[in-house]
Amino acid sequence: MRLSWRRSSRVEDRFESWITEQHQRRVLAGETTPSGPCPDEEFLRDLARKSKSISLSDPRIDHTANCRKCMSRLLELRERNRTRRQRLAFTAAITACALIAVSVVVARYALEKRPSPPNTAAVAQTVNLWDSGTVRGEQLGQLESVSLPAALVRVTIILPRHSAPGLYLVAITRDQNGNGVIAEGTASTVANGEQQEITTGLDLRKAAAGPYFLSTTHEQDQAAYYYPLQIR
Ligand SMILES: [Zn+2]
Repeated sequence: MRLSWRRSSRVEDRFESWITEQHQRRVLAGETTPSGPCPDEEFLRDLARKSKSISLSDPRIDHTANCRKCMSRLLELRERNRTRRQRLAFTAAITACALIAVSVVVARYALEKRPSPPNTAAVAQTVNLWDSGTVRGEQLGQLESVSLPAALVRVTIILPRHSAPGLYLVAITRDQNGNGVIAEGTASTVANGEQQEITTGLDLRKAAAGPYFLSTTHEQDQAAYYYPLQIR
């Protein structure tokens, strides 16, 4: 019922617009005779805008509907309005796109600028091995056990006396043979007076508390030095 009504309404619309077109064609061909004088431009503008201030009983409407000159001017004004509306819609769409782009950039910027949550902030720790006597491949044992938290750690290691400058591999291992690597990082030495320091990030968040070893290996030397380490 509703569907057929809708369909017939669409047919009616088509029929009406066909009549309108036929009428317009006749008017524009000069086949109709308008009554009364031509209205002014302002009236035609209002009519093109479908202004509500115009009454349908206004004789100027009847004139315009049958005058070749007024009809063509009316169609021209209507076309111009439509173009302007399209341009406005286009401008609005472009503005919306630009606003979306700007908000995406701002959101990304805000995200980057946002301080890291506390659990991902690296904990700065210093391990002083300056006075630790080590023997290649093993540790002497008199070194006071180093302790690091089970967290994301940014560790600065003061290398033992007479350590060579250069690139070092730092690792946290289960034993002093280099087995069971928990975390590792590389760092180049920075001279601080006569001391050599290396700073690297170590992710110990998944490490269970307990005894481990901290090893340092020089890139050229290749021999690892192990120091007892406690993860707390
Ligand atoms: Zn006219």
